[in-house]
This record gives sequence, structure tokens and C-alpha cells, in this order.
Amino acid sequence: MQGTMLYGARDIRFEDRPEPKIVKPTDAILRLSATCICGSDLWPYRGIADVAEPTPMGHEYCGVVEEVGKEVRNIKPGQFVVGSFATSDNTCIICRDGYQSSCVQREFMSSAQAPILRVPLADGTLVSTRDLPAKDVIPSLLATSDVLGTGWFAADAANVKPGSTAVVVGDGAVGLLAVLSARQMGAERIIAMSRHESRQKLAREFGATDIVTERGEEGITRIKDLTKGIGADSVLECVGTQESMMQAIRSTRPGGFVSYVGVPHGVELDGAGLFFAEVHLHGGPAPVRRYLPELINLVLTEKINPGKVFDLTLPIDQVAEGYRAMDERRAIKTLLRP
Ligand SMILES: [Zn+2]
Ligand SMILES: [Zn+2]
Repeated sequence: MQGTMLYGARDIRFEDRPEPKIVKPTDAILRLSATCICGSDLWPYRGIADVAEPTPMGHEYCGVVEEVGKEVRNIKPGQFVVGSFATSDNTCIICRDGYQSSCVQREFMSSAQAPILRVPLADGTLVSTRDLPAKDVIPSLLATSDVLGTGWFAADAANVKPGSTAVVVGDGAVGLLAVLSARQMGAERIIAMSRHESRQKLAREFGATDIVTERGEEGITRIKDLTKGIGADSVLECVGTQESMMQAIRSTRPGGFVSYVGVPHGVELDGAGLFFAEVHLHGGPAPVRRYLPELINLVLTEKINPGKVFDLTLPIDQVAEGYRAMDERRAIKTLLRP
């Protein structure tokens, strides 16, 4: 089998790898229908996060079960399944509370940009569909694996409710699907912060009512102008930089909610600023597993089409071009076909 490896900054190779096998009796082996490149993969790709040794890449996946270990009860060969980037037993107290991305048995997936994948804790991690899905819904089902699940958590953690005003900071795939999620949860006004025309267009399609192109101090002023001078009920931070985090906290009204789902890089918060902002903060690695059954159902009943965030599809052996296109912002998100 061949799989995707990152050797160092901007050095992606698709090369021979050992074929995944059952290691633990709770594992499953999947033949992937589709996989993709994540915005978070760009941090190590750009050399911002260190790569100590050649690292297998990829954590978003869906496909057909080929084989399961002896202790797997619910997942069966032949089923189509979607899983999260974090594995979970779905039975510990943290999982039962809905935070499967911090399960006591969690492992982070990291070799999904390949045709075959081993998934630990198959029963707790994977969600199966009743039938094999049609080919044209595969991109949307793949989106539930991370970007939609993460956008959904952003909206849920920011307490988006019918009639509320939500601001989405960030116009990557997660930000765009956070707009879709806020719309599904009934937000009346959704302000997307974006400078890129093609992304603004998709944000509007997903339900954004207003677009703000300014950033920093000017961006905060624009949000205040649009919210009677007090700030928004809910602000969804989908980037992970100091600027975006401050943008989020300072655009929220006192008593409002900030969620943060972008992996933070160099973010530091000032205690006094936080104290007087008087907002709720709730974020982290999204517990995608909590939402998967609902999101898969919304896709299969054609209520949502999150697969639209994939604006580039490549055969998986061209994965390096997929990274380049996202790095150069020629693509929002690249889908890879094994
Ligand atoms: Zn991801
Ligand atoms: Zn657990």
C-alpha cells in the first residue's frame, strides 16, 4: 500500500507503507471511500508546528469495513462507516458526558491519507449507515468526520439558539460549516468574517446574512455597529491565532458565549481583559462523535450539503498538489480519492 508522509516543511510524499492490520481485538480495518486534507495539516506542512521525524498524515475518513477484531460487537465487515479524528470508547464518564474527543482511551488518528486505515476502538469510534450511500453524498459524509462536526460544536458550544446573532471568525472549511451549523440551529443573524470573495459566496449560500471584511480593531467596531453597539450573543472562533481569539472575545456581548475550535498557536489571554469581558468560554477538540449520528442523518435526508466545501478533488497519489493548493489558498479543501 502507499500512504501520505510529511518529511518536513512542504515535503509531502506518497510512498510505500506497511498495510494496516488488526493490532488490538477492538480494531477495525477500513477501505476508504474518500479522505481529505485538513486546515490543521497546514500547520506542520508550513513548518509552524515541528516535524521531528517522517509522519503519516490524515485524520478525516469514511469507508467500508473490511475486517474487525475479535472483541468488536457493533461494527461489521461490509458496513459503510464514518469516524472522528479522535478515537473513543464511548463508555467512560467523559464520553457519556459528550466529550468523546477527550475519552480516557483517546488516540488521535494520523494515517488516513491512504487507501486503507486501521481504526482503534471501532465500536465506540465509528458510526455506520444502514445502507451503502450513493457516490454523490460521499463528500458530505466525509465532511461530518471533522470539519462539519467541528463547526457544529462551535455553534453548540457558543450557545447558538433560534433568533440569536452569531459571528463566525474564520472562513476556512470549519468556519464556513460553522455558518451552516448556526443556520441549522436557528440563528437569525449570522455575520461571517471573511476577506475572500469565493468564500464569502459560500458563506452566504450556507446562511450568512452579513459579511465583515475588516479585522482587528476595525473588525470589532464593525461587529459592534451591527449589534446595537453591544456585541453578538455568540461568537465562533474557527482559526486559532491571537488576533482571531481576541477578535472573538471582544466581539461578544457581556453574558454572551465564545466558542473556540481552531487549534491555538501562540494564543495568550490577559486576565483583566477576560475578567471585564464577562463572557462564557467553551472550546477544544470537537467531540465529533457526539454529533455524528445526527449529522449523518441530516446529510442522508438531504437537509444539508456540507460537501460543497471541497472545491478540489484529486486522486490520492497527487496529495502533494492538494497540500500546495490549500497552502496557496487556491483551494478551500482538497478531497482525495483512493
Ligand atoms: Zn481535520
Ligand atoms: Zn471514553
